[in-house]
Amino acid sequence: MLIHSARQLLTLAGGPQRGQALGNLGIIEDGALLIQGEQIVDIGTSADLLAKYPTEPRLDARGKVVMPGFVDPHTHLVFAGDRAVEFEMRLQGKTYLEILQAGGGILSTVRATRSASVETLVAFAAERAEVMLRHGTTTAEAKTGYGLEWQSELRQMEALIRLDTLGGLEIHPTFLAAHAIPEEYRDSPNAYVEQICRDMLPELRRWWIHHADARPLPFVDVFCERGAFSLSQSRQILESARALGFPLKIHADEFENLGAAGMAMELGAVSVDHLVKTSPEEIERLGTSPTVAVSLPCTPFGLAEPEYTPARAILAANGIPNVYFLAGDIHSAHAVHADLYGPNGRDLRIWEFCSSPFEQQTNPATWTYIPVFSGAIKRQKMHWVLPQYNYGVVRVTYDASAQAHVCFEVYGENGDLLKTIQAA
Ligand SMILES: [Zn+2]
Repeated sequence: MLIHSARQLLTLAGGPQRGQALGNLGIIEDGALLIQGEQIVDIGTSADLLAKYPTEPRLDARGKVVMPGFVDPHTHLVFAGDRAVEFEMRLQGKTYLEILQAGGGILSTVRATRSASVETLVAFAAERAEVMLRHGTTTAEAKTGYGLEWQSELRQMEALIRLDTLGGLEIHPTFLAAHAIPEEYRDSPNAYVEQICRDMLPELRRWWIHHADARPLPFVDVFCERGAFSLSQSRQILESARALGFPLKIHADEFENLGAAGMAMELGAVSVDHLVKTSPEEIERLGTSPTVAVSLPCTPFGLAEPEYTPARAILAANGIPNVYFLAGDIHSAHAVHADLYGPNGRDLRIWEFCSSPFEQQTNPATWTYIPVFSGAIKRQKMHWVLPQYNYGVVRVTYDASAQAHVCFEVYGENGDLLKTIQAA
């Protein structure tokens, strides 16, 4: 399939970008791309590619921008139950940590998730994934962390792998048994930390090798926060994970600064996420670190917290410091925040952070969490959106003879399907 005559083709060529360099989109005016199977195998100007592939089936993208799908690097996609009642508690002035200490918060989702089957978890997660896909997110990191016991965490992991194999949203899983101290360990949190390090992580590694079909090891993540895991407990978990070869991530500085960002950088974490209470010194360090800084503006918005990540300071540190981008942080506390760029996106102060809507998107699409995707779109799997006025998703289906059928489905800002452009 040759998609041609795009007003602009965003290639995002040139590898990961940092700080002030964000926003170089590698644009080809009047661009075209050739898809074979599930891969983009050639890109260039429409004139060149139309001449080079005269017999390829064609799809005219006239008047559209063609670009890679968005990558959401931080989601809690798999869970059962909901926490709608907590929104009322928050409106009454209760804080996130007060709700957690009262047995609500993450722990209420844990109760529902523990009793859910893999099939149920997949079904719930697939609905959320569909909303994300409709708004242009085509790849997402997704965490366990609502089981807080081995079998239940494992069911979440299985659900994530199954969700990925369903097609649609591409999933990169993270093991987050250290999301909260489970109720049964409330008086002995160190014993739970021990269990994660001694039993769960080695078991996960064994299980992964036999069940994950040669995928790279998942990330291991910790929620380092007062009321969750202390700095030393977080270090113990991350060091154990690192010794087993797992790549690392951390929830750092969301409500209080415990020193998690610095510790995670020292351990070579792939990312530090949240970064609301991060100190100026740590921001400077981010500027020279390969660790990715992830801002999650939907979280303070959803929790009615007043402070956001000092994103501009992170971008400004050292001139070209760190890769930085926005993520959804979908989890059970609030609605699916797939719509970062619609009307709700504007509510989320995204426009304070960005000089252009694409500024944050260059790195997620080219680098971020998916080492197999390097700087050029040729290595992207075929996920594309057309963000002119609204969003479009390229879908590919196959008939019995494995013939690919491509269609663009274009959605309005509220997620309504506006039109479908079919091509065989
Ligand atoms: Zn999170």
